[in-house]
Amino acid sequence: MVKAASLAEPDPEERSHWASLASHSLWQHIVNPSSVEENARTNLLTQDVKLNERDPPPLHKKMVKCLTKYGVSFETVHPSNEIKEDMPLWHHPGKIPGKRQENNGRKAKCLRKKHAVKKVRDALDMIRRLDDPQHTRSEVCGCNACDVDRTVRRCLNPHACVAAAAARLKQIRPKWIPNTNEAPEPTPTTADTTEEGDFKPPAGITTLAQGLRAMTRRTDEPKERENPPVRWRAETIPPPAEVEIFIAGVVHAPVSQTACAAAGIFIEDGSTRDTGKCIPIAGEQSPYAAELFAALEATKMTHRDTVLTITS
Ligand SMILES: [Zn+2]
Ligand SMILES: [Zn+2]
Repeated sequence: MVKAASLAEPDPEERSHWASLASHSLWQHIVNPSSVEENARTNLLTQDVKLNERDPPPLHKKMVKCLTKYGVSFETVHPSNEIKEDMPLWHHPGKIPGKRQENNGRKAKCLRKKHAVKKVRDALDMIRRLDDPQHTRSEVCGCNACDVDRTVRRCLNPHACVAAAAARLKQIRPKWIPNTNEAPEPTPTTADTTEEGDFKPPAGITTLAQGLRAMTRRTDEPKERENPPVRWRAETIPPPAEVEIFIAGVVHAPVSQTACAAAGIFIEDGSTRDTGKCIPIAGEQSPYAAELFAALEATKMTHRDTVLTITS
C-alpha cells in the first residue's frame, strides 16, 4: 500500500523511477482499457479506472491483488484549490453519480489532442474566455483565444470545445471544482467520536498522494464471531472430576466343571455404558476373579484425570 501511494504522485519529477515503471505497466492491465484513451491517462490511482485483477502485470501481481482486495479510492474532505486544479479532468474520481461523464466524445478528444487539456486547471484556463466580452458563442468567434485555437491548434470550432470543457466541469462534484463549495461536510469534533477503525479522511491535504484512501473494501473481510461455536464432539466434553463404579463378580454353578463367572459394572449415573461381561474361558472362574476383572474394566472406562471410586 505504501508502494501504491507513491503511484499517486502526479509530478513525474517527484515520482520515483519505480512508480513510473509500475504505473506504465499497470495501465496496460486496466478493466476496459479502450474506454480510457492513452492521452486521457494521467494518474492511475487518482482517476476513475479499475485494475483488472484477473490479468495483473506479472511484476506487480501482489500489489494488484492487494489493491483490488482492499480497495483504494481518492478522498479528502477539504481539498485545496491547488489539489483540485491538479486533478485529472478525464475519468475524475469525483464524478456526480448518475451524470453522464463525457470522457470520450469528439470534443473531449479535440480538447485533449489539440488543446492539451488534461487537468482541471487546463479546463478552467480554457473556459476563461467565456468572461471575455470579445468572445462570442459562435463557431466563427474572433476573440484572441479562439483565434489562437483556430490558427495554432488547428481546432475547427473553438467555442464548441470551450462549451464542452465547461460541461465536463459540471459533471464533477462541486467539491472538486476550485473556488466552489459543496454543502459543508460535518467537521468531526472530539465529542463526535467515530467507531474505532472508521476512516476519517484528512481534513486538508497538500499532495494528491495524501488523499489516497486505502483498504476501502471491507465487505469481504471475515466477520469476527462473537462466540466460537460449541463443539459437542465426545472428546471435547471434559471428563468428570470423579466417578463411582459399582462392580460385582458372580459365578454360575460354582465349584464344578461348568462353573462360569461373570462381572457386572454399574456406573453411578445410570450410564448406558453399564455392562456385564463373562470372564474369558481361560481365566479362573471364581467370584474373586470376576470381581477383579470388573475392577480392571472399570479403570479402562474411566478417564485418567478422573478420581475413580470402586465399590463392590
Ligand atoms: Zn472566442
Ligand atoms: Zn477543439
